[in-house]
Amino acid sequence: MSNSSGAVTDRRQGPELDRAAGRSTLGPEGEAAVATLLRLCGEAPDRAGLAETPRRVAETLAALTSGYGQDLDAILRGAIFEERYDEMVLVKDIELYSLCEHHLLPFHGVVHVAYIPRGRIVGLGTLPRVVEVFARRLQVQERLTTEIAETLQRYLEPRGVAVVIEASQLCMSMRGVAQRGSRTVTSCMTGIFRQDPRTRGELLSLIRPTAGP
Ligand code: ZN
Repeated sequence: MSNSSGAVTDRRQGPELDRAAGRSTLGPEGEAAVATLLRLCGEAPDRAGLAETPRRVAETLAALTSGYGQDLDAILRGAIFEERYDEMVLVKDIELYSLCEHHLLPFHGVVHVAYIPRGRIVGLGTLPRVVEVFARRLQVQERLTTEIAETLQRYLEPRGVAVVIEASQLCMSMRGVAQRGSRTVTSCMTGIFRQDPRTRGELLSLIRPTAGP
């Protein structure tokens, strides 16, 4: 494969880092685009309340899409250890905020990540970082679920991986497509979680919300 597919490569590099400001931004072109959108919405982008809005939105969007520029390999390679533990590892309720790629509106909720090791474990704090690398891109919940699971399968080569995401899609509730408060659940399971109903059942009983008092 040639390396000349410039468009794709550029997109994956993600937002530039404004080193002087110490934060990501979409730059002057991004700010101008936001001002244009404001004008098309019927606003006056130069009125006092909106004067700083193009800059803020350009920085916010850059931060929310910073996952394109993250080096997954660097995050994971240093965080994997040889270990003989072979029971289920489950990190529940990892906070999730992402942007739907169809409307650029947030979806938010929780991610549960489980795996059964085969000689290798990953630092527990690394799992939320992996979630964030993929969440800070334009996403659909289904693909986000699969990407997290496939990444852990590839790096850990465990007996199985399970990723379950429960999230509310603002593009559904704000636009009135679904009843407010509805949640979407997606899951991706590999290996023993897919093959063995008992293992899958154990996982689902562990992530079920605990009954209130
Ligand atoms: Zn959407």
